[in-house]
Amino acid sequence: MRILVLSDIHANLTALDAVLEAAGPVEAIWCLGDVVGYGPDPNECIERLRSLPNLTCLMGNHDAAALDQIDLEAFNREARHSVRWTQDVLTPQGRDFLAQLPERALAEGVTLAHGSPRSPVWEYLLDHQTVSENMAYFDTDLCFIGHTHIPLFFCQESDTGEITGDIVLDGESPPISGRMFLNPGSVGQPRDRDSRAAYAIFNSEPRHWKAARAQYDIASVQERMRQADFPTRLVQRLIQGW
Ligand code: ZN
Repeated sequence: MRILVLSDIHANLTALDAVLEAAGPVEAIWCLGDVVGYGPDPNECIERLRSLPNLTCLMGNHDAAALDQIDLEAFNREARHSVRWTQDVLTPQGRDFLAQLPERALAEGVTLAHGSPRSPVWEYLLDHQTVSENMAYFDTDLCFIGHTHIPLFFCQESDTGEITGDIVLDGESPPISGRMFLNPGSVGQPRDRDSRAAYAIFNSEPRHWKAARAQYDIASVQERMRQADFPTRLVQRLIQGW
């Protein structure tokens, strides 16, 4: 099965559409959470996702915040602004869609979570210690996660238990073996200094992962953000890719 794996769309419809086009035909779409927050198109992104066949979509921390399920104090100033703005513009249908999203899922023998299998909505998997601890919280070989906005993989050596990992660049395919975490990066707000939308194509049989990037019209998104009076730092970081 050819599957499009994406995460952290963050209400950026232009980036989402660029990824859907660049990915080509796929048999399923796995979205690892944070459909909304930061960007200017929350309802439009939800509508687009709802129109896709064979979608599995998870709840991210920004989705939970838009539903008022998370204390706003947990967010920085700009993120708080965008949560409030998102709450104001979200349609009842958009809210219903977010409210039914699960925190974890199992698909084609792969565990899916937004942040980590231990604490799906909040925990960041960035360091080897946290990754090592999380190996006990899923029982499949593979676990796909998002949340950090950085395309990367972590692998556990089967004999020593040692964790290795690296950033995955455009076009790269980390070898799939043993127990692994794979992160496709962020569609709508990459944070690896590459402003292009990030995603991955996963083949379930035989298992293969390929990281990819899609160019999109960032200026048009920034213009919508300015019109909606978003904080300048949020507007600028899109073009800087962090
Ligand atoms: Zn995010």
